[in-house]
Amino acid sequence: MSDTPIFSTPDRLSRQSEEELAKLDLSFEFFPPKTDKMEARFWETLERLAPLSPRFVSVTYGAGGTTRGRTTKMVSRIEKETGVKAAAHLTCVDATKDEVNEVVRGYKEAGISRIVALRGDPPEGVGQPFQPHPQGYRNAADLVAGIRTIGNFDISVACYPEKHPQSPDWYAEFENLKRKIDAGASRAITQMFFDNDLYLRFVDRARNAGIEAPIVAGIQPIHNFTQISNFAGRCGATIPNWMAERFEGLEDDPETHALVAAAVAAEQVTELVDRGVTEFHFYTMNRSPLVYALARLLGRRPQISRG
Ligand code: FAD
Repeated sequence: MSDTPIFSTPDRLSRQSEEELAKLDLSFEFFPPKTDKMEARFWETLERLAPLSPRFVSVTYGAGGTTRGRTTKMVSRIEKETGVKAAAHLTCVDATKDEVNEVVRGYKEAGISRIVALRGDPPEGVGQPFQPHPQGYRNAADLVAGIRTIGNFDISVACYPEKHPQSPDWYAEFENLKRKIDAGASRAITQMFFDNDLYLRFVDRARNAGIEAPIVAGIQPIHNFTQISNFAGRCGATIPNWMAERFEGLEDDPETHALVAAAVAAEQVTELVDRGVTEFHFYTMNRSPLVYALARLLGRRPQISRG
């Protein structure tokens, strides 16, 4: 028999040393809790994920601006109490420019320097036509420009590997993304996607359209397949058939559901690292175990404070 191995494993970037993997940038997204019980889970999750050295953790802004007060409160507390950089999401929905600017000035006074700037969706729901407030910001690019006049914030914006449902074509999609970056955003974070080729093709197209800003992969671990696939459907993200089949019939089998979800997400992120992706944003749904495990897979270990 020859000494040559029959199978040679190609070098996989996801198997690099921890030192190399430490260069990956991770961020974690939360939503503002509504009840005391949810708030307790929010802090538990944050406590678990904060030592993983995220670039920032972000807190979403409820549809129609309904969580404005709670988003502000949570973001300020995160910075003060955990020392982790926090980013506040902000939308233009149902608010005048003055109202939005006041929120931005409040962030500046509270020392919050990161904002995820979004147009938002109408209170009637995702997919309904968006009507800007007569005295409001008209879209995310307009909002980014407005924020810039108030302070030197680090601004992230949204982008869509499968095209925003309201963009008539790819040209409009990239023109819009370019306007947001040119207005002063530092990076774009993608909508969830489950087919890595869609993301990689999107990045290629963006580069061809002259967009050079980082395009951070938005990763949605599947905590509840039915819930996520409904949400994905509303925001134009495709669930591949193979994935729907793997989760089929697991509604009453949480243990297997969790294992399948972990395997699917692990494959997605390791394949992205293998293909050279270095920036990830995790939609945590305020739950830590799966995101924590994925961060471990990406070489991240908790840093113990020696203060
Ligand atoms: P925009 O970039 O303004 O684009 C929206 C649509 O309008 C696009 O189709 C675009 O092509 C079109 N458009 C924009 N400007 C023009 C123009 N001048 N002429 C013609 N067409 C134009 N929603 C929340 O409510 N709260 C959140 O916290 C939140 N966080 C999010 C975080 C991420 C990472 C992502 C990906 C989405 C988030 N969303 C959130 C959802 C987001 O608000 C919706 O996807 C919304 O429909 C679009 O927001 P946008 O900022 O991408 O809008």
